[in-house]
Amino acid sequence: MARAAIGVDLGGSHVMAAVVDEAGAITGREERDVIDRSPAAVVEALVAVVRTAIDGSKHDVGAIGIGSPGNIDPSTGTIRYSPNFGWENVPLGDRVKAAFPKFDVFVGNDARCATLGEYVHGIGQGTKDFALLTLGTGIGGGFVSNGVMAIGHQMGAGEFGHHQIRPDTGFVCGCGKTGCFEAQASGTGLMRHALRLAPSFPRSALLDVPREKLGSKAIRKAAQAGDQHGLAAFAAFCDDLALGLANVIAFVNPEIIALGGGVSSAGDFLLDRVRPLVEARTTMVPRGTTRIVRATLGNDAGAVGAATAAMRGGLIAQLPLVA
Ligand SMILES: [Zn+2]
Repeated sequence: MARAAIGVDLGGSHVMAAVVDEAGAITGREERDVIDRSPAAVVEALVAVVRTAIDGSKHDVGAIGIGSPGNIDPSTGTIRYSPNFGWENVPLGDRVKAAFPKFDVFVGNDARCATLGEYVHGIGQGTKDFALLTLGTGIGGGFVSNGVMAIGHQMGAGEFGHHQIRPDTGFVCGCGKTGCFEAQASGTGLMRHALRLAPSFPRSALLDVPREKLGSKAIRKAAQAGDQHGLAAFAAFCDDLALGLANVIAFVNPEIIALGGGVSSAGDFLLDRVRPLVEARTTMVPRGTTRIVRATLGNDAGAVGAATAAMRGGLIAQLPLVA
């Protein structure tokens, strides 16, 4: 029987468990909405989807990998801190292990899991230096350096979303700082640019959209249709995205930066604008040597990466090279 692992994508409102084989293919999935965010309720929902996924699998499932938001101690699987759930020191790994004592259980940050998924099974294949940025409600990220997934001293490597790019004039970030990359260049950032620019476009069709429906998708579509307000918001957004991407190049010098998340659905409309802006801000690294492309695994990257990590005994993509 082919080997496989369960990869869990745990979000603030949704949990999905996928059966992932050694080639990174998803052969089954179970999902459930998360309404109650208390640790007990989330663990119950997570255990239920994992159990159904295992029971329905034709593969030999040996491990369970969980990608969760927050800062996580990978040796214990404890969520030290997760703003999405309002959790502190929740022993998620231990609780899942108690439900599945025969399985290896691994818990890692969701964005780092997605990075590993794209690196091993997606657009990062064949590179040694790779970064992923997911442009969704926030900005998740991670990077691989010389074939090794960067983790950091306290699991904080790749927290690109919270480096400040507009500390004086930017939007307030969920983390409390002003002008974080995430506040400026996530899907939420695109929406905030549109709202900030609204007084300059009093006849904008976007202002007829009910406020609760004015998401990044509506603004992106308006820009792609040539709407002046949408285009101005998109231009401000691309400026901020490029600023942060140029910084990522300076910090990490990747061969590829892959962009995922809802905003990346704009494809070339986004990339054609952002690439020259990044080049203009790239100084100490030869320009044009980092390819900025769309991620390929979409919303599955986190589950594929979590399962891959579980199969390999952690987030390590490859053994570190000995000097
Ligand atoms: Zn922040």
